[in-house]
Amino acid sequence: IISIRGLRKAFGEHVVLDGIDFDVQPSQVVVVIGPSGSGKSTFLRCCNGLEQAEGGRIDICGRTLVQDGRMLADADCNALRQEVGMVFQSFNLFPHLSVLHNIALGPRKLRGLTREQADAEARALLRKVGLEQKAGAMPASLSGGQKQRVAIARALAMKPRVMLFDEPTSALDPELVGEVLQVMKLLASEGMTMMVVTHEMEFAREVADVVIVMDGGGIIESGPPATIFTNPTQERTRSFLQAVL
Ligand code: ATP
Ligand code: MG
Repeated sequence: IISIRGLRKAFGEHVVLDGIDFDVQPSQVVVVIGPSGSGKSTFLRCCNGLEQAEGGRIDICGRTLVQDGRMLADADCNALRQEVGMVFQSFNLFPHLSVLHNIALGPRKLRGLTREQADAEARALLRKVGLEQKAGAMPASLSGGQKQRVAIARALAMKPRVMLFDEPTSALDPELVGEVLQVMKLLASEGMTMMVVTHEMEFAREVADVVIVMDGGGIIESGPPATIFTNPTQERTRSFLQAVL
């Protein structure tokens, strides 16, 4: 469902992604780990066109997003973003809109749903993330874990075929991490294709089909979690895991 070949990205002189090759199969959960600055966020952002790659090629959901540094036209890029949902560390909810409105806005504007349809779908998604009773609340009144569950519901409202998560629990108090991971596990069990940057190694062990380890702008190692965590082949993976586990 995602195919990445020779992906290259630099900020000025600084090469951040140095020729990444990777494929994601439908319904796979891919967890991306690696030290700070290794290019994890940039990698994810390239996969939904938030960052423009300089070289290589990305095919995603049957579209060629970038080829040799040339992006899809804007209209097509927007269509692709509907198929690739993204959730950030910092929630990014619209502060002046209610929870229900945050979720229903995209489907009304971009999927052409009526208000009634969009609200009904939004309520169903709120039920799914365990926040039915918060439909009328404003984002500022929610806990971090609740905000992040709303952000996930909002991404799902666009009916994406792939979900990208960039450290979705890193801004949360420890006691709120579990409720967000629970929702992500549910999505995984329903067959959602997911790429997740996270430091939650338990989640990776339990849910990932593939773990990829990034360092210095490349994938230094990838494989099933059992292999990566117990028997890594790269010294750099070993020292990274020692630091975080
Ligand atoms: P972290 O674990 O801290 O989130 P990361 O693996 O997500 O790190 P990236 O955010 O992808 O790393 O950044 C990789 C490198 O690219 C870093 O050296 C960073 O300083 C640089 N970088 C990222 N975004 C920009 C930008 N917009 N302009 C210039 N440099 C950038
Ligand atoms: Mg990052």
